[in-house]
Amino acid sequence: MRCEAAPSATSPPAEPAAVFTQFVVKLYSRCNFGCPDCYVYEHRDRGWAAQPLVMSPAVMRRLSGRIAEHLRSHRPERAQVILHGGEPLLAGPPVLERFARRLRADCQGLTTRVDLLVQTNASRLDRAFLETFRRYGITVGVSLDGTAESHDRRRPDRAGRGTHAEVARALTLLRAPRYRPLYGGLLCVVDLEADPVETYEALLAHEPPAVDLLLPHATWHFPPPRPPDGGEAPYGRWLAALFDRWFDAPRRETALRLFDSLLDLYLGGTSTSEMWGPYGSDVVVIQPSGLIEYNDVLKTVSAEAARSALHIGAHNFDRAAADPGFAAERAGLAGLCAQCRSCPVVDICGGGLRAHRHSPDNGFDNPSCYCADLSFLIGHVRERLTHGVSMLRARFVQGRWSA
Ligand code: SF4
Ligand code: SF4
Repeated sequence: MRCEAAPSATSPPAEPAAVFTQFVVKLYSRCNFGCPDCYVYEHRDRGWAAQPLVMSPAVMRRLSGRIAEHLRSHRPERAQVILHGGEPLLAGPPVLERFARRLRADCQGLTTRVDLLVQTNASRLDRAFLETFRRYGITVGVSLDGTAESHDRRRPDRAGRGTHAEVARALTLLRAPRYRPLYGGLLCVVDLEADPVETYEALLAHEPPAVDLLLPHATWHFPPPRPPDGGEAPYGRWLAALFDRWFDAPRRETALRLFDSLLDLYLGGTSTSEMWGPYGSDVVVIQPSGLIEYNDVLKTVSAEAARSALHIGAHNFDRAAADPGFAAERAGLAGLCAQCRSCPVVDICGGGLRAHRHSPDNGFDNPSCYCADLSFLIGHVRERLTHGVSMLRARFVQGRWSA
């Protein structure tokens, strides 16, 4: 699936390592889109087929109680509960409302700020959903792949028809003053066939408060599509061109988490993007049946890579956090291969997403299959920052500070 990342972020290192602060709740197990690169339906894992269509009220109750119990016990500053699928809106407003009402009630009085988000393809987004989201303070992230041409090619419905027009209609509604505060942002997967600047400007047309960019999920064994004449680091170059357009805008047009996090890391801060930083992941996924799974992106590795032997009925999140699979997910620098650990940019890159490091020969003990791209982008941003500082210094020295 390519709908996962808008709300997701790595935990700042200040939080205790064994605490989950991102709960990805799979309310519905099917989707009305047929994206050819969806890791849930089109990659290695077929676990969705054994899942019930929708999470039952009993699983919801148990899950909500477990989340509240975990947060009450560890008291992290913030946590995110991300409503997900498949396509979560296919469950219908009453199902989403039932879970949100329960969670808000269970989390009352916690010291943790609990953000509730939904990540959707937006095809079913209407006033009924938005009124529910207003009542329970649910922020909406929408998956949109840039231009109409790119989106229709990469996000068709199950009948193969383009979906850009219906998503654009939903975004117009979401931008209306009554619902605008619920608009979390857009999630776009890098498409080398599309122009990066046109992609960014097509996203901007929907006035997003934030944009996140995702690399197509891939491993060394299942590498990302690379055009034969793409040269070295085609994804890094694509992102660098988009960075320049974003960075050189005369005013800030939107938050762009991938780049904001990169700049924050350069300035000594922390990343809120799962892509960067040596932190590891604190994501836990709960399937409609109540099965507890590792980060969804691992479905791109193999049929089993995201699976644990844990279930919300029998195991609480403290027990899950002690599971070796979750420990591996949050290992951070210690979980990296020798090449990454000795890399000069490891504090920024962090080896990329863990799933992207996998190869059949030595598991996750590799640099990212996007290593050249990540390295190129990091170098490009560093150059732009260094150049920008030199220009400011020159202006200052020449007495042209306000020029
Ligand atoms: S819209 Fe549906 S098919 Fe497409 S990536 Fe998301 S979950 Fe997968
Ligand atoms: S993936 Fe490549 S660029 Fe990133 S830390 Fe590892 S070696 Fe360095």
